[in-house]
Amino acid sequence: MERELLNKMFEFHGHKCWASALGFRTGLLAMEKLGVKRANVKELFVILETGYHHAAGCFGDGVQFATGCTAGKGNLIRKPRGKLAFTLIDPKHWKQIRLCFNPKIREKIANSSFMKKRSAGVPPTEISEEEVMEVINLVLDSPVEDVLLVGKVGESHFEPPHEVMGLEVCEICGEPVAKAYVRIIGSGQNIKKVCIDCSGYEEGFEK
Ligand SMILES: [Zn+2]
Ligand SMILES: [Zn+2]
Repeated sequence: MERELLNKMFEFHGHKCWASALGFRTGLLAMEKLGVKRANVKELFVILETGYHHAAGCFGDGVQFATGCTAGKGNLIRKPRGKLAFTLIDPKHWKQIRLCFNPKIREKIANSSFMKKRSAGVPPTEISEEEVMEVINLVLDSPVEDVLLVGKVGESHFEPPHEVMGLEVCEICGEPVAKAYVRIIGSGQNIKKVCIDCSGYEEGFEK
């Protein structure tokens, strides 16, 4: 069952890799520890510490797939720290848990023929499936305590962000915009509600 789900995750992610597999395993474990099921809507939140453009960032896709906390639904919150770590939050019961990649397993991963080839600049597409699966199985089958630093379930003070409903149509380009992103330009009788790109203002806020 878990292997079947894992393959679906790889399909979603685009390729087979150890970092997304690790995120998947970690996501499942976090849910088990909190005693919760995958989020269909926003029953759960993830604060993901993976950053941008760094090694093993694929971790975040495994976490999203396992927990149902996804970029689109808005229950995946990014706190880029360059760590393979996240906090899973159950806001209804005010509980949370943080898990992080354990450096213990790093050496084994680094010594795999997959990582040796990657370090030598071989593109992942030119590495055999067997070698890829060897590292994936390493992070999936090694004892949890070798792979992850598992925090304690603790009290959460997380307040889910308020969702602003409704779209307005930009009076310049005519494209629908979520209300929180509408900007006002002009003055007096000449006020227009417009999108950020038509407003000439700097970027909007990131949430
Ligand atoms: Zn990947
Ligand atoms: Zn516009």
